[in-house]
Amino acid sequence: MEAEEPRKLPRNVPGKYYTTEECDGCAYCAAVAPDSFDFEKGSNTYFVARQPETAEQEDFILEAMEDCPVDAIRSEQASCTAA
Ligand code: SF4
Repeated sequence: MEAEEPRKLPRNVPGKYYTTEECDGCAYCAAVAPDSFDFEKGSNTYFVARQPETAEQEDFILEAMEDCPVDAIRSEQASCTAA
């Protein structure tokens, strides 16, 4: 039995990190990692607008991920479905 994964928000750029529909728009992630997250007004959600290019940017994303109150920031796991 597998729990259903929350859906990725459509505005996320392709890449390792993304946000899901669980986002409640609290803006915490954008405060911690302003280079990586942007706001979509219509849905009141934040999405990954830029994947990290430096170790520092990645650290900020990881920090946001750890502290997101609804666990809406995810990273792609290495999986057996990789091509
Ligand atoms: S910290 Fe989480 S809930 Fe808050 S805006 Fe970012 S993704 Fe959404």
